[in-house]
Amino acid sequence: MPKIYFIDVTNRDGVQTAHLGLSKLEKTMINMYLNEMGVFQSEFGFPTTRHESLYLQANLELAKMGVLQPIRLEGWIRATVVDVETAFKLVPNIRHLNLSISTSEQMVYGKLKKSKEDVLKSMVDAVEAAWSHGAESIGVNAEDASRTDIDFLIRFASAAKERGAHRFRYCDTLGYDNPFSIYETVKTLAENVSISIEMHCHGDLGMAVANSVAGAKGALDGGQDAYINTTVNGVGERAGNADLVATILAVTKSKDFAEKYPLGNPIELTKVWKIAKFASYAFGIPIPINQPGVGANAFAHASGIHADGVLKDPQNYELYNFSELGRGEPELIETGRKICSGEYSGVSGFRHIMGQMAISFKDAEEAQEILELVRYANVEAQKPLTEDELLFIAKYPQIAKKLLTLSPLE
Ligand SMILES: [Zn+2]
Repeated sequence: MPKIYFIDVTNRDGVQTAHLGLSKLEKTMINMYLNEMGVFQSEFGFPTTRHESLYLQANLELAKMGVLQPIRLEGWIRATVVDVETAFKLVPNIRHLNLSISTSEQMVYGKLKKSKEDVLKSMVDAVEAAWSHGAESIGVNAEDASRTDIDFLIRFASAAKERGAHRFRYCDTLGYDNPFSIYETVKTLAENVSISIEMHCHGDLGMAVANSVAGAKGALDGGQDAYINTTVNGVGERAGNADLVATILAVTKSKDFAEKYPLGNPIELTKVWKIAKFASYAFGIPIPINQPGVGANAFAHASGIHADGVLKDPQNYELYNFSELGRGEPELIETGRKICSGEYSGVSGFRHIMGQMAISFKDAEEAQEILELVRYANVEAQKPLTEDELLFIAKYPQIAKKLLTLSPLE
């Protein structure tokens, strides 16, 4: 029986968004939290982008150490042989890739200035090159799939399947689909091509989550596994992508859905509060008050009838309990003196901060070394590090060193 999986693309679509970005340490923390949640795969970055190389290598090392396990770390590149070769040159240990190319007439002629046959050939050549370089799993992305005619999509997905690709990504790049159109198209694809289908939906018309759920239903009804692309807090190009938490809630809690359309692996919902809060802090974007599950108002009741109802029985006005999402724990907020990390921090303040988290160092030298890494992390983040980030650096100093190394002049 086909199932639903999640592929989070915060570290690719989220960070390529205008006005927004994450430090390499912040990207790593997102991977750590996604792993804790049980998300199947993180699209963790751009293997052809030079400033990503050490970050990607460091995260693959964490995977090898068993720290970033069982999550699968996959890189996003264009579906060209040149990109495949560059990816394996810069990140030799990369094993999972998504190869992307435009398929709509608008983009094939209007952007790539190529023919559809060129697009097919480029994709097929890229898939074969990726296999020959040692790829273990490949997804093939049809950019602007929702504005591509179905016959070409079937040809494209079939050619990918024939060359051994594992997944076909249906990209509603402009957020043009609606739940009815995406359901029909994806179901047709699933029935005609025996390949798992990824839903990659954008919110330009406010339907990213709804389209993801409908598309997933189309894939499953057509007999194929569905992989839903999400981002934490819905951060992504323009109006954003399908929000991770809202999409998980939609497929697990909406009317009669989960009984018929199960998840491929369990998701640890109690971790979602932490990842949403961290992404909000790291991106510097407040969580909207009415955001599903994690917004300040998601479990707030003021009006007489609602408050009375929820006090008598929460199920009167709440579909699920806040504690399921990891909410409800008291949070300590310092209202008086505060010592925090910075790029010019000194050892005394640093020992104080770490001491509050019950971290001690074996000698002055070790404290100085970790402090130095924390300073560098602050140069990138330009805001005080979180407790988890500080703990990460103290626990994996060699990995942190790699993450924090940027050498453009080499
Ligand atoms: Zn996108």
